[in-house]
Amino acid sequence: MRGQARITESNVQDMLREVRMALLEADVALPVVRDFVARVKEKALGQEVAGSLNPGQALVGIVHKELAATMGEGIADINLAVQPPAVILMAGLQGAGKTTTTAKLAKHLIERRKKKVLTVSADVYRPAAIEQLKTVTKQAGAEWFPSAPDQRPRDIALAALDYAKKHYCDVLLVDTAGRLAIDEALMAEIKDLHATLHPVETLFVVDAMQGQDAVNTARAFKEALPLTGIVLTKLDGDSRGGAALSVRSITGAPIKFAGVSEKIDGLEVFDADRHAGRVLG
Ligand code: GDP
Repeated sequence: MRGQARITESNVQDMLREVRMALLEADVALPVVRDFVARVKEKALGQEVAGSLNPGQALVGIVHKELAATMGEGIADINLAVQPPAVILMAGLQGAGKTTTTAKLAKHLIERRKKKVLTVSADVYRPAAIEQLKTVTKQAGAEWFPSAPDQRPRDIALAALDYAKKHYCDVLLVDTAGRLAIDEALMAEIKDLHATLHPVETLFVVDAMQGQDAVNTARAFKEALPLTGIVLTKLDGDSRGGAALSVRSITGAPIKFAGVSEKIDGLEVFDADRHAGRVLG
């Protein structure tokens, strides 16, 4: 491709095939890869190749830029622009990292935004989940509101909201029950919680290691809830993190944070530009 001044149909084909392979290897879902590659092709064709770049190098630049633009839109922090308490609803499958992320977010909001934070678990199916939230909330330095398996999730939510109002909490983080797979009852329950609480943020927590499966999960949660953001967990694992592109494309919600360790301080603001490099490998 050296010596050519333009990206053309003929010199772009091989490169796009490589991009397609890289995205599939990173576990981006096939329909998402197809759309992305088609978009890059449209953007690239006919572009002049700047300075010393050859068309191949120029295309890599376009791919990286498009990937970062698709996955991110500047810094997307938590929206707290409501009358307090701002309610944040955590959604996702069991094991995605909801409880851990709830505590990480509590710590983030306390330290970075100087907020008074209350957490509550509406997971009435696993008493251990309630205890787990209590433990990690303590580590985060936030306040924990007790709940019990014999209560209804909606009643727990209302009691916690009432407490948060009376005690001038700025933020109420609501951890919810997850299942191993999508099921109707779970979705009905979280929809009811959403309707009860009117959260300012509804965050979809998804495991980056979930790869291709992340697409179906994301679609189901998007259909059930107006998601306002995504937290991609377990990015410290060895996946290339292609789930970021899939989940972002399917939900349209911004990826706000990345989980990068099991520890309470293992939460970072998502950096789309850096992540684009990782996905491309
Ligand atoms: P939940 O069922 O969605 O509430 O998930 P948990 O918060 O209980 O997390 C499930 C497992 O994933 C736990 O062992 C967590 O320590 C672990 N985990 C959560 N987030 C991360 C992360 O960002 N990195 C790593 N390595 N592990 C994580």
